[in-house]
Amino acid sequence: MNSLGIHSLVWAGDTSRDSVRRCVELTSKAGYDILEFSLHDGFEADAGESAALIEAAGLQVACSRGLAPDADVSSEDPKVVQRGLDLVVESIDITKALGGKILTGALYGAFGKASAPLSARGRANIVASLKEAAAEADASGVRLGLEVCNRYETNVLNTAAQALRMVDDIGAENVFVHLDVYHMNIEEVDFTRPIQLVGDRLGYMHIGENDRGYLGSGHIDFSELFRSLVDIGYEGGITFESFSSAVVMESLSNDLAIWRDLWHDGYDLAQHALAMMKGWLAASQLNQS
Ligand code: MN
Repeated sequence: MNSLGIHSLVWAGDTSRDSVRRCVELTSKAGYDILEFSLHDGFEADAGESAALIEAAGLQVACSRGLAPDADVSSEDPKVVQRGLDLVVESIDITKALGGKILTGALYGAFGKASAPLSARGRANIVASLKEAAAEADASGVRLGLEVCNRYETNVLNTAAQALRMVDDIGAENVFVHLDVYHMNIEEVDFTRPIQLVGDRLGYMHIGENDRGYLGSGHIDFSELFRSLVDIGYEGGITFESFSSAVVMESLSNDLAIWRDLWHDGYDLAQHALAMMKGWLAASQLNQS
């Protein structure tokens, strides 16, 4: 049974005490199991108090982030690499303090359009840094996801095959592949083959429409996608991600190029997405029997 989640940017653009309370209340009211926070700007509210709210609401929490140009483990500059590793370790600590067991995202590099391909030294720095981060995470009971993103957001992992090679090179049990339909639609030739290829090393999924708006309003073949997840026996979290300039976290929204109002009512969007995901999952399970 998959847990279904929602990204906090559907509810609030920051992680102040009031915003965290609002995110927890609305995630729970809409019927989701997982609340995902972006740690792109760190976490402002008290983590212990937030963890208590999340637990009292019966929710799971996941955290995600990308790195930054001056704190980037894919750099060739040892100081920038070290700051990148520090950022990942700090994010592991926040995840643990919130009661989370998953930290995922572009943990391998800065978000944004790269001006050149990843260098061999940059890749070696990622592998060495994430080996260290994985050991730290393991001691905190946290698993690390490598989210495969499109070419305009990273030059490190654009395909599931690249992510598998990196997970193999890191060689830690608690590092997994995280696929996101929005990025897959840009980089993969279909949804089935990458999901089959990753198989039991798939640890987290982001679900989104091709324009990152209302689920089911675009051209993504969600029947194929959910059938592929059911076929590999995927039991991990499936989190709905959607962005609109109606809710802005300045740093993240600008890095993700969120320039348009794709929706105004996050609650309506969230309820609709949950119903769609449940429907696709149920239909795929029936299809299998
Ligand atoms: Mn994503």
